[in-house]
Amino acid sequence: MEYTSERVNTLPPYVFSEFQRKKRNLEAQGVDVIDLGIGAPDLPAPNFVIDRLVEEVKKPENHRYSNYFGIPEYREAVAHFYKKQYDVDLDPETEVLALIGSKEGIANLITAVVNPGERVLVPNPGYPVYQAAIHLAGAKAQHYQLNAEDGFRPDFSQLTDEEWDAGKLMLLNYPSNPTAGTVTINTFLEAVTKAKEHQTMLAQDAAYSLVTYGDYQAPSLMQVPGAKDIGVEFGSLSKSFNMTGWRIGYVVGNPEMIRALSTVKNNTDTSQFIPIQKAGTAALRSDLQSVKANNDIYEKRMDDMLEGLQALGIQVDRPKATFFIWAPVPDGYTSAEFADELLMKAGVILTPGSAFGSGGEGYFRVSLSVPTGRLQEAVNRMKQFSEEGAKE
Ligand SMILES: *Cc1c(COP(=O)(O)O)cnc(C)c1O
Repeated sequence: MEYTSERVNTLPPYVFSEFQRKKRNLEAQGVDVIDLGIGAPDLPAPNFVIDRLVEEVKKPENHRYSNYFGIPEYREAVAHFYKKQYDVDLDPETEVLALIGSKEGIANLITAVVNPGERVLVPNPGYPVYQAAIHLAGAKAQHYQLNAEDGFRPDFSQLTDEEWDAGKLMLLNYPSNPTAGTVTINTFLEAVTKAKEHQTMLAQDAAYSLVTYGDYQAPSLMQVPGAKDIGVEFGSLSKSFNMTGWRIGYVVGNPEMIRALSTVKNNTDTSQFIPIQKAGTAALRSDLQSVKANNDIYEKRMDDMLEGLQALGIQVDRPKATFFIWAPVPDGYTSAEFADELLMKAGVILTPGSAFGSGGEGYFRVSLSVPTGRLQEAVNRMKQFSEEGAKE
């Protein structure tokens, strides 16, 4: 009896699980492991969002099924946010769809707009969910490389005309996980031009759009004139409002793509719990001061970590966005070897770049979403590790 489908059987292995096993073993031996591999905020959701949830959950009418597209109030809040943040007009009826987190939206979009065997253009290194979702949809991945020389921005000319033509959909992710790379609107302009030329749809994953530092403001794909003709943008409240477990996000843009996605969703889920959508509305309509307060915390932690990395002889440009630092491994190590050595000798978990695709080899990702004291402790241990002499 075969209990699993071929698609599930042939999914690429989950690279993080090996580290989790080692972490458990060390912890069982009494080692205090600091996990800088976590990709979710450690900070709590804002109180005003929690208050709104509590208030709304007490109303029996909010316990019914939501409208399939998400409640009008939430979709209007997304449109309001786009107007205020990006000066972009969206029709909340046809150009906004509520999601149960952006992850399901990205995965379901592939099923909704790409036929089995067709190609999806994806960043390498990139968020591992893309690769898995493409595989589960029976589609094929065509990678484009993100290189340090380009600041991890895509060089669109690396794909041949044939590769562009064969690409049914291109995934973009800025600010980028894992590279912390950022773009200006020019990158999106170029993407829209290329995509229109080759009849390729675009999907931009903006999970970190509000996690930015200093003067940097992440642009929206929707700010490019005509982007709505061929593209959508995914947004999430997970990272900006510390609401990962709440599962609330959205997709905006091309009405046909959104309709196709909603058809998949209408047949598999029935949108998010209404009180969570109401609380999400409060977050999106807020003055974003809570987001700024989080970013200030990440920025301080970033200073500590950059100093720690410097002690290891690792120089990195200060990220303009995301709560990740993407850094080159010291000479003489592969990504996995370095991560392994730091775990065994310093009890610090980093994510080896190779977990994000072949293009991540030679790098590691540090997450700043651990309590400040723990992060400082990790920095101390890393300094000690470098003094005691790592591998010759
Ligand atoms: C965390 C993350 C997401 C998923 O966010 P949810 O809205 O919680 O599903 C999507 N894309 C990237 C790049 C992420 O890091």
